[in-house]
Amino acid sequence: LKFRLKGYVEFSKDITLLESKIDAIVTKEINTLLFKRGVPKGKKGAKITRWRLKGNKLMLTIEGSRYLRPHDALLRLRTFFTERVGKNLKIGVRAIFIKDYSIQYLPSKKPEDKVEVRVPWIKELRVKDNELLVKLQNLDASAIQNRYVERILSRINEKIQAKEYIGKSERWELLWQSPKKEIAWDKDPTEEMEKRGWIKRIAAGEWLHTPIPARLMRTMQEIVRLYLLEPLEFEEVFLPKMVPLEVWLRTGHMPGSANVFYYVSRAKKWSLNEWEDLFDYIKVTGQIPSELLKEKLTAPIGGMCFAQCPPFYWFFEKKLVPDDELPIKVWDSSGTSYRWEAGGLKGLERDTEFHRIEVIWMGKKAQALEIKDQLMERYEYIFNNILDLEWRKAWVVPWYMEQAGETDFEEKKEIGTVDFEAYLPFRGSRENSEWLEFQNLTVAGTKFSEAWKFKTTSLREVWTGCTGIGLERWMIAFIAQKGLEPEEWPTKFREIVGKLPREIKTI
Ligand SMILES: [Zn+2]
Repeated sequence: LKFRLKGYVEFSKDITLLESKIDAIVTKEINTLLFKRGVPKGKKGAKITRWRLKGNKLMLTIEGSRYLRPHDALLRLRTFFTERVGKNLKIGVRAIFIKDYSIQYLPSKKPEDKVEVRVPWIKELRVKDNELLVKLQNLDASAIQNRYVERILSRINEKIQAKEYIGKSERWELLWQSPKKEIAWDKDPTEEMEKRGWIKRIAAGEWLHTPIPARLMRTMQEIVRLYLLEPLEFEEVFLPKMVPLEVWLRTGHMPGSANVFYYVSRAKKWSLNEWEDLFDYIKVTGQIPSELLKEKLTAPIGGMCFAQCPPFYWFFEKKLVPDDELPIKVWDSSGTSYRWEAGGLKGLERDTEFHRIEVIWMGKKAQALEIKDQLMERYEYIFNNILDLEWRKAWVVPWYMEQAGETDFEEKKEIGTVDFEAYLPFRGSRENSEWLEFQNLTVAGTKFSEAWKFKTTSLREVWTGCTGIGLERWMIAFIAQKGLEPEEWPTKFREIVGKLPREIKTI
């Protein structure tokens, strides 16, 4: 690592009166003492290589090593000068600033092509002499204290890793596959349900469900209650469905899924006077002036529920959970979730607004893993014995590891996501068609308890896990294989669903 920083320390007054002393201060007090502190013997720390007084500024060039990085040396200087000139001369340190900062190093992985990190503090980023040269600019004290330099370097590293990650497509490993089931039906459930008037599309990916699909999805929920939630003693909670952006910032969904959220804004001004022009416009034209409306709204303050669990972890922020209260097991089904799927929208299996039961658990590591096994067992029972599905399960790279460009999965198999996939006959052959991920289960390890800084009272780690049960997806997986005629459905399912409600007829 090679570091070279150009910047200054700014004082509250002109400091030219220090002119005669500054050389001695730099060479005898700073370079030989202050910048050697904490540096291992025989290793280089940091060093001011050029200095010049200019009005109320001390202009500096600092070179440094990994043992004392120049930006940390600059923070040290601020404290030093506050003491050194503050007491005797009543001069304060007003600011520290980095104008140019070049860092050259050998990255742990060499970038295969151009890496870009687009933030205003990066002036240049390129390969030089087989190393990476990062030129930074305009970092003030708060940028330095908030570790922007370190964060920029780790972001660069993440991007290099992520490029490599994309290159390796195989991040899917089959764990188990059910026996083949006889294909009873091969139509597209969404199309057939639309034809019968069971569902109606109100907007892209958003559907109205009439009594029959509503009953089918409630039946799925009932199955989950009877065969999973109650036997495993999960309790219901109501989690907020409009999520402050800060919550996602902590979980990493922001920025990870920034392009998929539905954002929420509210009126900038509450007073009706402020809205009168909009009222008038609509009354006169019968149209909604979207630009005018946009002006009246705040920037997004939150987003619609995306994954249900994040606000639950927030509940535990900076708390200690009594050891004997663990494990904690809850579920939420108090509202809809939203995802913008862009071009991917077609049927109910991939919709914008959907209904999901989110099952969340937390405990010590062994407890979290034991609950995972119990859930897996319950799911297998449901899919094999009640829904009678042809399905498989696979280990996949969890979303947050994928986004961070992590590649050492082998050690992390305890953590990770299991996808449950169902064969959809209408999509083609088993071998060549895409199966539907109708369910998944993730053990997140300490990811969320670290994000919100909670532990047990004996200061042990808390592991969390969650599994989302998409009711539309369960329904589609089931219908795609079993069709729309109740007589064809498995007996156990028929017992739970009961007699179907009547269709709503229109002409
Ligand atoms: Zn979750």
